[in-house]
Amino acid sequence: MKEKLLISACLLGIGCRYDGGRVAKVDAELLREKFELVPICPEIYGGLPTPRVPSERVGERVMMKDGTDVTESFERGREHSYQLALATGARLALLKAKSPSCGKGMIYDGSFSGKLTEGNGYTTDYFLEQGIEVYTENELGALLSR
Ligand code: SF4
Repeated sequence: MKEKLLISACLLGIGCRYDGGRVAKVDAELLREKFELVPICPEIYGGLPTPRVPSERVGERVMMKDGTDVTESFERGREHSYQLALATGARLALLKAKSPSCGKGMIYDGSFSGKLTEGNGYTTDYFLEQGIEVYTENELGALLSR
């Protein structure tokens, strides 16, 4: 049986990004040779619509560009994502770089100016705390060779 891989749905070309756009950044067929894919979108699971105003992390809170505090939606989204990890037995994730939900290592800095800062997305932090191994699309080589 193939190992389960949680994957940011937008990386599969699903139009769930804040702007409704698509990013098909990964070769899904290549990944399917090794993994059973489990698509997730924490922001949608948190009840946010598409399209939506973009959000960025500001410390432990998450704010939309218009000043709306969406921390509760992000908390709900990460919990639903984790419940899916538990239900499927997935202990591995491939998440979208830089996102306030899914980023790892570097995320937007909360100023909505395009600047990056060290840190993880809300769901990524939670996954790591729960012992889920997280990669971004910039670490595909490491994921495929593990
Ligand atoms: S929350 Fe994650 S999966 Fe959903 S659109 Fe943003 S980066 Fe993609």
